[in-house]
Parts: sequence; C-alpha cells; structure tokens
Amino acid sequence: MTNLIEESIEEHHDQLKSKVAGYCGCAQCKDDVVTMALNQIRPRYTSGARRGSVVTRAELQHDQARAEIMVVVLEAMRRVAAAPRHLPKA
Ligand SMILES: [Zn+2]
Repeated sequence: MTNLIEESIEEHHDQLKSKVAGYCGCAQCKDDVVTMALNQIRPRYTSGARRGSVVTRAELQHDQARAEIMVVVLEAMRRVAAAPRHLPKA
C-alpha cells in the first residue's frame, strides 16, 4: 500500500518539480518531499472509515485522490524549497 502511494507521490513530484519556484529537485530534496508527503497522506488512507482497507491502484487514479496527493506534494516542495536540507553548493 505504501509503495503505491509512494509511487504516486514520486510521479507527481517529477511532474511538478519545475513548477515550484526555488525548488531544486536533487535526490536529497526529492527524498525529503516524498517522506513529508507520505507522512501527510498515509494517515488519511489508514484511519477512520478506511482503517484496514487496501488502497488500490484504481483508487489512486481517482481525480480526488490525485488532486489530494498533488496538493500535498506541492506543499511539501514549498517547504523543502524554503529550507532545503541538502548541502549548500560550494
Ligand atoms: Zn536539493
């Protein structure tokens, strides 16, 4: 389940990385964005009414799920762009 969500997050990341001003998109930044987004999204799919349910690939193709993931990925990119953890270029 996590892998499917992670896959979807990475897809969105690759599509959106050039659209966020100041976001560098290196491996470290991508890692941070994916981790941050996963932490945001995973609870939504594992709590409440959905507890124990399995997220299917089809479900992640839904417009609503895609829009939700996109928003979370964009937000994570803005946060990483504002405070990147990668080493500054010398
Ligand atoms: Zn970076």
